[in-house]
Amino acid sequence: MKTITNASEILQGLAKLYPDAKCALEHENPYQLLVATVLSAQTTDKRVNTITPELFRRYPNPEMLSQAVPDELESLVRPLGFGARRSKQLLGLAAKLEKEYNGKVPQTRKELKTLPGVGQKTANVVLGNCFNHPAITVDTHVGRLTRRFGWTKETKPDAAERDLEKIIPQPQWTIACHRIIEHGRNVCHSQKPACNTCKIAPYCPQIGV
Ligand code: SF4
Repeated sequence: MKTITNASEILQGLAKLYPDAKCALEHENPYQLLVATVLSAQTTDKRVNTITPELFRRYPNPEMLSQAVPDELESLVRPLGFGARRSKQLLGLAAKLEKEYNGKVPQTRKELKTLPGVGQKTANVVLGNCFNHPAITVDTHVGRLTRRFGWTKETKPDAAERDLEKIIPQPQWTIACHRIIEHGRNVCHSQKPACNTCKIAPYCPQIGV
């Protein structure tokens, strides 16, 4: 069976397939990406992108968001489900950014994780995409594909992240995750991975498929 010696071949293959892979959540600054990533819990990036243009038009910064009327905010985020909970979370997030971080998104994982709704994954998305701090983001695609690659056996994101940090070269952490996510969306689907036509099949042990 092929093992993690396949890492550089797979990473190179993905780089050829998805040279311009990037974060699928539309954003123009760290505040927008932070809010969009918090909203992406239990829904898809695509759905988040349908509501964020209006959300950011009405509340372009943490100060404006912290002053939002809860009912109005709730109706804006309702299409994502859990409207009341999401509204409350965003109000808490904005208030804390205003009160403790002077309205700026902090640039360390430790500080980011003090914000309501922000865990390891969200902190890593913001660090990797806004602050040039390479970070591995283990979402459903990255978890599934890297288990199929044989890079981890872990199903818990934090544990998988530790394994992947040893396999993917650090400068590539952020971009490699974007490429793996693209491959998960396009080819290596959860239910029916298209192994027969997959360009990286020669290097993939297809574990569990
Ligand atoms: S589609 Fe198959 S061959 Fe391609 S990455 Fe997924 S499991 Fe591996």
